Amino acid sequence: MRKPIIVGNWKMNKTPSEALEFMKGIEEVLTGNEGADYGIGAPYVDLDVCVKNAKNLIIAAENCNEKDSGAYTGEVSVPMLKEVGITYCIIGHSERRTYYNETNEACALKAKRLFADNIVPILCIGETEAEYDEGKTADVIKTQLAGSLAGLDASEVARMVIAYEPIWAIGTGKSATKEIAENCCKLVRDTVKSLYDDATGESLRVQYGGSVKPDNIREYMACEDIDGALIGGASLKVDSFKEIIDATK
Ligand code: PGA
Repeated sequence: MRKPIIVGNWKMNKTPSEALEFMKGIEEVLTGNEGADYGIGAPYVDLDVCVKNAKNLIIAAENCNEKDSGAYTGEVSVPMLKEVGITYCIIGHSERRTYYNETNEACALKAKRLFADNIVPILCIGETEAEYDEGKTADVIKTQLAGSLAGLDASEVARMVIAYEPIWAIGTGKSATKEIAENCCKLVRDTVKSLYDDATGESLRVQYGGSVKPDNIREYMACEDIDGALIGGASLKVDSFKEIIDATK
């Protein structure tokens, strides 16, 4: 049985004091809720305050650098995240792929480095609207997976979280139908099975992301191959994130 995992992605939102406010409001709903994992991806400067105030909530970074240290101005390494107490890290989000040129090769290096410190990568993949319209979704998913998982062992991939996020559904309010989401999450699992083996594909947790809200989370979570969600906008307010938690308890 795969344990569901619901993760908010704050993106470039919330100062440390705003992050603290959120943490104070959210923890009480998580108490006694061991049926699923819940987390928040937060900006680097918020991570310390989030970790210090988290009892049940997983705190994820939104990015990392694959090198340990050195002359890389503005970057943050995995040992730095480790020391702050981070246990998960988002990599390959479409915004980072689009605006900061994060490639599949970079994702593979970051994932490998994260695993070396026992931090679980949440790898994001997904097609653009044009690729969707041209019927290229399956090819994009397979190519991104083959490139981003390169060099990882089956035992690592089995522990990983992969978020299928069609770019046309991110922040648009135009969420994928549950059929599209399920088919693509199943394709993610089947691709991992063909790259590794059945057990690895069955153990990996696959999320859907893209305009997930309190009123549509249930239908995604009811799908066989969807083990959770990566949630942007609806994770910013305590009330809507609480509603999502309540809907998935
Ligand atoms: P959204 O963002 O829920 O606001 O569409 C999802 C994401 O970017 O992970």
